[in-house]
Amino acid sequence: MKGEELFATAQKHLVGGGGAGGRYHPLLKRPLYLARGKGSRFWDVDGKEYIDFFTGSGANFLGHDHPAINDAIRQALEVGVICNGETEYHSQLADLVADAVPCAEKIRWANSGTEATLGAIRIARGYTQKPKVLKFEGHFHGMHELIWYNCATAPGAVRADGTIAPLPDTDGMPAAFADLVVVVPFNDPDAFARAMVAHGRDLAAVIVEPISYNQGCIPARPEFLQLVRDTCTRLGIVLIFDEVLSGFRMSRGGAQDYFGITPDLCTLAKALGGGVPLAAVCGKSEVMSVLNPTGHTIMSGTYTGHLTAVTGAIACQRELAKPDFYPRLNGLADRLYHGITNALKATGVPGRVQGIGARFGIYFGVTEPVTNYQQAVRTNREMEVKFILGCVRRGLYLHDYAHRAPMHHGFSAQHTQADIDQALGIIEDALRDI
Ligand code: PLP
Repeated sequence: MKGEELFATAQKHLVGGGGAGGRYHPLLKRPLYLARGKGSRFWDVDGKEYIDFFTGSGANFLGHDHPAINDAIRQALEVGVICNGETEYHSQLADLVADAVPCAEKIRWANSGTEATLGAIRIARGYTQKPKVLKFEGHFHGMHELIWYNCATAPGAVRADGTIAPLPDTDGMPAAFADLVVVVPFNDPDAFARAMVAHGRDLAAVIVEPISYNQGCIPARPEFLQLVRDTCTRLGIVLIFDEVLSGFRMSRGGAQDYFGITPDLCTLAKALGGGVPLAAVCGKSEVMSVLNPTGHTIMSGTYTGHLTAVTGAIACQRELAKPDFYPRLNGLADRLYHGITNALKATGVPGRVQGIGARFGIYFGVTEPVTNYQQAVRTNREMEVKFILGCVRRGLYLHDYAHRAPMHHGFSAQHTQADIDQALGIIEDALRDI
């Protein structure tokens, strides 16, 4: 098997046989080595074909090898591989994003979601001159010391002040960083109110995944999100929606459009560029005005807004703006989630699917809505493992990170009704394994 051989070779210089730790598939016990991708599918180096339900962790929102993105990247190559330089394309893209995303009065580019949340938190601190950030248990905001707490750790007990002890998700986090993070259970108005009494005066920002796909798919209760919005407004705290996954996923305006609640800042990546490496911090002019060069909060970078990414993202945004784009995508989503619900019923496997737009999570062993991390980690991992392996074996690629909460899966705009129906057949067969 070429994949096994490549695994042996790759380990010589790549830790764990891959260039990024997250590409290791703990259930396959190695990364899946890919040969090529086209539309809704990819092929591994052994020639096995998969329907792609990982879609680059949600980045390949337009599928693989999309002609409009390919043409746009070629266009950038003709201009020259411009790094750290401005072009007319940068402001064209900014216009498209501002037209789509409610809070995006001003925009700054970044390379990754991690870099975007790092920048957003710095902007919030620059604007408020306050030190702390409140985040919700189970929510993931990238891999940096400021915020990488309580995403994959054991669920914590809620303390008298409404908070949960911050637990880092990685080694290498000096304890001092934890003093600046306040962790609160999601969708819990009482705990949030108590945490605000205890810490509100020190908070620069509240950061939230309004739809927490990093625990499968757990949306905020609308009244909870409104409470968070109103509290931040009242106390002068910057509200950041981390829309790295939810942005553009079900509507051009992302989760802020879906809920009709506008944050002060938001972070975007993944579907922003449909596969090109581009991210952004967007926000209200007043808050964003602290950024350099007009203000004294610095966020910049040699590669941010690289031209190949910018022209690629323009092509992606133009696809998203087509009138039939979201009706079609959300129609496929309905078909898939109804189909999974029916397959669970037909096979008698206890579980539920929660999906919004093109991403979803499946929770095994529960039938009631999953609304927070504590519930997500109590779902049946043994069944999930069997299910994922059953799908992968049959040619439906689902990724796994061996986290405590279920992983999110999803499809792209190049998936067809026939792909969804074929995937549903595989899903039902994999459920029968359980
Ligand atoms: N924020 C959210 C909500 C994410 O889902 C992710 C990645 O999955 C990130 C931030 C980090 O993004 P990146 O992997 O581009 O650094």
